[in-house]
Amino acid sequence: MTRKQVTVLGATGSIGVSTLDVLARHAESYAVFALTGHSRMEALYEQCLAHRPVYAVVANARQAQALQERLRDAGISTRVQHGDDALAAVAADERVDVVMAAIVGAAGLVPTLAAARAGKRVLLANKEALVMSGALFMNAVRDSGAELLPIDSEHNAIFQCLPADYHKGMSSSGVRRILLTASGGPFREMPLELLSRVTPEQACAHPNWSMGQKISVDSASLMNKGLELIEACWLFAARPDQVEVVVHPQSVVHSMVDYVDGSVLAQLGNPDMRTPIAHALAWPQRIDSGVSALDLLATGRLEFESPDVRRFPCLSLARQAAEVGGTACAMLNAANEVAVAAFLQQRIGFTDIPVIIEQVMNCLPSAQVIDLEHIMYADHQARQCAFDWLAQHA
Ligand code: NDP
Ligand code: MG
Repeated sequence: MTRKQVTVLGATGSIGVSTLDVLARHAESYAVFALTGHSRMEALYEQCLAHRPVYAVVANARQAQALQERLRDAGISTRVQHGDDALAAVAADERVDVVMAAIVGAAGLVPTLAAARAGKRVLLANKEALVMSGALFMNAVRDSGAELLPIDSEHNAIFQCLPADYHKGMSSSGVRRILLTASGGPFREMPLELLSRVTPEQACAHPNWSMGQKISVDSASLMNKGLELIEACWLFAARPDQVEVVVHPQSVVHSMVDYVDGSVLAQLGNPDMRTPIAHALAWPQRIDSGVSALDLLATGRLEFESPDVRRFPCLSLARQAAEVGGTACAMLNAANEVAVAAFLQQRIGFTDIPVIIEQVMNCLPSAQVIDLEHIMYADHQARQCAFDWLAQHA
């Protein structure tokens, strides 16, 4: 059997590492074609030693030269390239079957779109890419015949619970609502008056998942759920009002689909990203992910509550952007990326994050266009507007 060739964009991150763990368990079926990293060069070097990809892609020429020399000294033939064009090239290379899109943030849009346009099986972790480009991305998938499989645990769960004909639209496939679960993050029960003083360390200490810094802060503010709401609308042809957010602190039910006959289907599992990664890699088959069996008796209770939108204004801001559509979602995402970076650098407080996003959304008009140029322009304008806020206030 010929092995499937896999490119892992963002190999050095949390999702990238989990992906390589699953791939290593199935080396007879999958070969690593390319690995990409941005700052963690030591981790990328070790990954190249272990997985021997054809290509490694890094951010700049200096990194590329240093990594290439080390690999050559170690007798590894991996070719090291650098820059945005190289990222898109390893995503679209004709030898590649599967692309794991696990770069964080807007930086992942162009290579993820390149994989979609080239008709690959795209395992989508980089939700920001879809939030920004929405219709453009989905059209690329449709036109090229790419297979888009969600890695976000909630969307992977929804995908597993939906009928095969969900592309026709929610109501024609008998779906009433999508129930998108949220853990509620580390600040679900913190007294409101303390929220403005929480530290990046507290925000990144997620109760159930171990993830990269940016998504950890997004989970704490519930912007992650807002981005996921937009992501769900695009992936499953749903309207924003057909997606309901349900807080479920145990993170065992990864999401649900509510049908018109009153049936509710759920996918459950331990909170470990190797489950959706293995599912999407092998779909429609099933392969071992290394995740242990769910022990429901040890879990004991499954609780559900509605989200506190006063505590988490980011969720409402994202819902508004989803309803406006067009470039509003790209602006929301860009403002959030700037605000989260400023919070991680301790330039602003946690409660300033929604203030910045709201300011950006209020001062910029959104356009209903779907070409990449307009999306990038909206992203740029929103970042500029957020930087202006920071220059005045931080
Ligand atoms: P990490 O921060 O752990 O990893 C991000 C990856 O992107 C790293 O490989 C990083 O390289 C690379 N990267 C960062 N900036 C750039 C850039 N400018 N250009 C190219 N590459 C870059 O994030 P996660 O793995 O946690 O998340 C990745 C994506 O998956 C995000 O979109 C997130 O929302 C999504 N996701 C993550 C989940 C999780 O459990 N972690 C769950 C669901 C979705 P380096 O480390 O070398 O700097
Ligand atoms: Mg998720």
